[in-house]
Amino acid sequence: MSETIERHEFGAEVGRLLDLVVHALYSDREIFLRELVANAADAMDRRRFEALTSESSALPPDAKVRIAPDKEARTLTISDAGIGMAKDDLASSLGTIARSGTRAFSQTLESAKAEDRPSLIGQFGVGFYSAFMVADRVTVTSRKVGSDEAWTWASEGQGSYTLEPGTRAEPGTDIVLHIKEDADEYLEPYRLDHLVRKWADFITVPVAIVRDGK
Ligand code: ADP
Ligand code: MG
Repeated sequence: MSETIERHEFGAEVGRLLDLVVHALYSDREIFLRELVANAADAMDRRRFEALTSESSALPPDAKVRIAPDKEARTLTISDAGIGMAKDDLASSLGTIARSGTRAFSQTLESAKAEDRPSLIGQFGVGFYSAFMVADRVTVTSRKVGSDEAWTWASEGQGSYTLEPGTRAEPGTDIVLHIKEDADEYLEPYRLDHLVRKWADFITVPVAIVRDGK
């Protein structure tokens, strides 16, 4: 299997953004969950939309975002049954800063005073890389609607990521966060539940917090 693992370097901009997000936003790190749930919701909306305009398979009617903490494994998994990402999507969406909003955020944040940063987060959103505020390793396994292949993207947020074939029975995405030593609180169902309630106005899809296990 090992010869099928590809290693890629992050673009220079990703490196800078990761550094900013992980160090400058430390006191606001709980927002990682809102960002990952928002991405899951976007992916579910896209799947619903594509099914209206093409032959692609519909979003299951009971689709939810699942948030599954596992204290023993020290992982937090966020899963959706959304549109999913093909291998190329993983590389372009999670390996480069394709989105101009993220670049603007990164530039503004760099020059902002510490006390202004929380409001900037609200304005721009931080995105996927905020996962590295609470995780020292992130793996993303995804299968795109219409494909029978799954791929796994993995990174420690330190300059490079890997891509290799993965397994997933249905279309959608699993984001697995390997929780940092000092971020135990995000393995507590009550804490996760509190955060989901706090952002209920932003979170427009059903969310289930699953206790210990997947
Ligand atoms: P944004 O959501 O503003 O585009 P992010 O950094 O949050 O920026 O995410 C980058 C991109 O990665 C998204 O635009 C999307 O293409 C892809 N992505 C992230 N999470 C998911 C997911 N759960 N399912 C499908 N695509 C995703
Ligand atoms: Mg996002």
